Amino acid sequence: MLNLSVLLEDGARTTPERDCLVFGDLRLSYALTDMIANQVANLLVQRGVRPGDRVALASPNVPYFPFVYFGALKAGAVVVPLNILLTAREIAYHLEDSGATALFAFAGSPDLPLGERAHAAFSQVDSCRTYIDLPAAAGATESGIEGAQTLWAALDGLPGTFSPVRTDADDTAVVIYTSGTTGTPKGAELSHNNLLFNAVACDTLFGRSPSGHDVFLTVLPLFHIFGQTTMMNLGLYRHGTLVLQPRFDGDEALRLMERERVTIFAGVPTMYWGLLGAKGGHDIDAITAALVTAVSGGSALPGELARKVTERFGVEILEGYGLSETSPVVSFNNPKVKAKTGSIGRPIWGVEMKLVDPGFADIEGEGPGEIAVRGHCVMKGYHGNPEATAQVVRDGWFRTGDIARRDEEGFYFIVDRSKDLIIRGGYNVYPRELEELLMTHPGVSLAAVVGVPHDTHGEEITAFVIREEDSALTEEELVAWSKERLAAYKYPRLVRFRDALPMTATGKILKRELR
Ligand code: AMP
Repeated sequence: MLNLSVLLEDGARTTPERDCLVFGDLRLSYALTDMIANQVANLLVQRGVRPGDRVALASPNVPYFPFVYFGALKAGAVVVPLNILLTAREIAYHLEDSGATALFAFAGSPDLPLGERAHAAFSQVDSCRTYIDLPAAAGATESGIEGAQTLWAALDGLPGTFSPVRTDADDTAVVIYTSGTTGTPKGAELSHNNLLFNAVACDTLFGRSPSGHDVFLTVLPLFHIFGQTTMMNLGLYRHGTLVLQPRFDGDEALRLMERERVTIFAGVPTMYWGLLGAKGGHDIDAITAALVTAVSGGSALPGELARKVTERFGVEILEGYGLSETSPVVSFNNPKVKAKTGSIGRPIWGVEMKLVDPGFADIEGEGPGEIAVRGHCVMKGYHGNPEATAQVVRDGWFRTGDIARRDEEGFYFIVDRSKDLIIRGGYNVYPRELEELLMTHPGVSLAAVVGVPHDTHGEEITAFVIREEDSALTEEELVAWSKERLAAYKYPRLVRFRDALPMTATGKILKRELR
């Protein structure tokens, strides 16, 4: 059967000279990228890593990520990508929980001492035997971390060819720890088939550059499933060039889009706000002329934002919906076929969706209900946690925790996450509706609504708001403005202004922290 690493090997075979990775001034061809991945596979075999063993990888979007990711897959190992913002204690938890025997970690720049955190975690976990330092300086053979060997020193003299381990379709390729916005992280086991099918099933949705050579701005964190799927589907599957941006910044993104003539951008909604809010000095005409496809996912795309992006960049955003547990794409709202504002669209090829009640019984008609998903995308289960798996998967159907409505044409509209539902005085209040409304206020730049504990109402509706620059909006004004527009039970009673809101590394607002 096919190993997921075929996505890189195929590019190395058919377009060996083409740039696979662009990072700063560094340009690496498909042939070279594949060769280094082969060396990583040889290194893992030399260190005793066997098919099925877990290999953890903590790296921002720099070339090391694909080297190690595909090298480990070629060796038949299971990749465990780690969020680069984790503390040492959290990294240790992930190493223990996944049973990783090797850890590759980026040494980190002064403001991101990831290597120190990773090495401290490694020292606490006996079962993890191999530590490889991914040095911040390309090619460095000296590690800044005591007792660690750098990747380049470890690869020295190893062959650049490797015959990928044959895998069965259902063998685990990657364990993705879910973003943890809702509790203890669990590792979703995704098979080679889960990820390959997902990459291929989405391909028909997206336009291709007229030249046949796509250039993809790879800024969604690669440790997250959304970053990985786009790397594979929007980048490697079409033998495209991945322009790596390690940390999102609107101006830097536009600079790279202009310089590299980027044809595809994929991001979470907050990144689109970032592009719109960039300081300027960019050749927007050149950016627009090159850009063919814009994709959004990961959280709700406000209609107002979609409209502004089309106005500025001349592309319609394709909104997808998915989760770590579904490899990740479940549905797409595709304007080429038919799209509806505010909808997450209809299921992609080979995937079914339905609505269920809290007892897992089907809900007919419009809903609302919880989205359940079946098909090639559904994970094998949570690593080492059959109880947690049984709670969410029944007869092949995975329950997502997202509440939606469905129209007569089969389009789904997310109402909210079931965990974010606010119950005030017995009434159900879905924060997303309020957030969409608040963001239409000219003085509001970003809003997040949560329920905070309250003696008489159970929960009180509280809006955390970032004001537009120069806005002097007050709490009383915004409450009164909302009251005019919303039913009495659901307008926000409390407004708190903030300069920033807590976010995950993927740009999702951490409502747990706001609460
Ligand atoms: P994660 O597992 O970190 O990818 O998070 C998955 C969650 O992101 C889903 O359960 C949804 O709550 C949310 N999500 C993903 N895509 C969308 C979308 N297009 N609209 C609204 N929420 C989304």
